[in-house]
Amino acid sequence: MYTHMPPDYTCPFCLVVQGIEDPNNKLVQSKQQDIIYQDEYVTALIAALWWPNNKGHVIIIPNRHYENIFDLPLDIAAHIHKIAQRVSYALKDCYKVRWNLH
Ligand SMILES: [Zn+2]
Repeated sequence: MYTHMPPDYTCPFCLVVQGIEDPNNKLVQSKQQDIIYQDEYVTALIAALWWPNNKGHVIIIPNRHYENIFDLPLDIAAHIHKIAQRVSYALKDCYKVRWNLH
């Protein structure tokens, strides 16, 4: 299988799922308190460092490492979408936002 990962690569998202924090923000920049949802398949967390002016930016990641969308099983992809919709409803309610759908 082809991979882009260098041999010594440490996936920061997998560290988040494993509950690992780095006080120096080198290995992983997210904190466990950034996690807003987690089940046996996915973890959803607020993007704490990037896009600071985009309140509510949420990243939903599979708990298992998949390098790319081609490796991602369809049932996990569907679950990510299900949780994305659930998080979207929560954000909509929390921030009282209106969607501009065209
Ligand atoms: Zn990973």
